[in-house]
Amino acid sequence: MSRRNKSPIGGVLIFGLLVAGAGFVYTSDMFEREQPSVVVESNGYWNLKKPLNISIDDASGLGSYKVTLKTSTDEIVVVDENFISPERDVKLKIKAPRSVYALKEKTVTLIVESTDTSKWNFLKGNSVRAKYKLRIDKRRPRLNIVSHSYKISKGGSAVVIFKASDENMDEIYIESNNDKKFKVQEFYKDGYYISLLAWPLIDDNFKATVIAKDFAGNIAKAYIPLYLKEKNYRVSNIKLSDRFLKGKIADLAEEFVETQGIDNSLEQFRIINEDVRAKNEKLIHELSSKVSDARISDFKINRMYPLRNAQVVAHFGDHRKYFYDGNYISESYHLGLDLASNSMAKIKPQNSGKIVYADFNGLYGHMPMIDHGLGLYTIYGHCSSIKVNSDEPFRAKTVIANTGKSGYAMGDHLHFGVLVQGIEVRPQEWMDKDWIRINITNIIKNAKKIIDRN
Ligand SMILES: [Zn+2]
Repeated sequence: MSRRNKSPIGGVLIFGLLVAGAGFVYTSDMFEREQPSVVVESNGYWNLKKPLNISIDDASGLGSYKVTLKTSTDEIVVVDENFISPERDVKLKIKAPRSVYALKEKTVTLIVESTDTSKWNFLKGNSVRAKYKLRIDKRRPRLNIVSHSYKISKGGSAVVIFKASDENMDEIYIESNNDKKFKVQEFYKDGYYISLLAWPLIDDNFKATVIAKDFAGNIAKAYIPLYLKEKNYRVSNIKLSDRFLKGKIADLAEEFVETQGIDNSLEQFRIINEDVRAKNEKLIHELSSKVSDARISDFKINRMYPLRNAQVVAHFGDHRKYFYDGNYISESYHLGLDLASNSMAKIKPQNSGKIVYADFNGLYGHMPMIDHGLGLYTIYGHCSSIKVNSDEPFRAKTVIANTGKSGYAMGDHLHFGVLVQGIEVRPQEWMDKDWIRINITNIIKNAKKIIDRN
């Protein structure tokens, strides 16, 4: 009997062990064949001030890593580490060494090397050598305010023109209270920008700062020194009558989704005055937040005067508090100017633009909206009929709509609203020829003179 024939079971066993062994090598972390993964948090720019965040990780564990900065003349090892026991992952914050900071070079190469503790590769493990080219930009954007309105009133508007430059500019905007960001528009010549500003009626203070950021994370800020003019707005305590609740409010409650299934008149009123109003205003704010990306070389605006021979029937900024039987129910701000003349009177806006909305908007009733450019918008609420369509150009001094009492209106009137980048502002300013000249037109004229001199 030969030995070969004697042990067929042994042969199978050995084969089985070999397969298992190979399987172990292929699936175990100990023999994994993946090189460590390296992630550098960077957009390709570095200002040398912000540490570079690098993370390295590996399934079998890291044995070593090394970070080098390579310039045209030098190789600087920033960190070089060998672990005694393997680390699953490392997170590095690489700060620029002084010698790099002193260099005048525009680029450096970041080299990240690492080896894992895998037994693969005849126990040598898997290695990675990752290179990243980084553009060095240590300089902050240059920022200069060219011209601005001297003052801004609470609830009012202003304008600013400034110069901003940086070879790697990323973002330019104006920041004011409550993290509001005003978009800026390119103005007249390269590197100049313009923006209208608005001090929201409900904010006690106003502070605006131009911010310019480059891709390397350098930030420049320029505070706009506006003189703040306080304005007192009326607070009225209004008693809700049963006639009003059972009449207008009951009618409106039938119309809105929000008040379906609500029978209590006071609750209906509260929902209409708060929830429905908030929804309608949100639409207005969204539509009026857009600012064109196109460069403008001028901004001319006529005195706004949408309704001839009209009487002011309610002011901008009225803070209305509602009571029933001596109990507080709700409150709201009146964010436009109510004008009344004859019923179904023709509304003729004095400035051209583009119709951005021409539809029903809850409490505002039938409401067209015009975009006049530079983030300035006007709305016309409670109309009986609208004579324009959305997305059409609007020609100044033509009829946009007729007054009415659609939406939340008791008598026939026009609710005239002016907005700057989604913020309701005092319409009276834009209805005043002298205010426009002193605060807007002259500032722009003056800025152009300064720009031409440079
Ligand atoms: Zn109104």
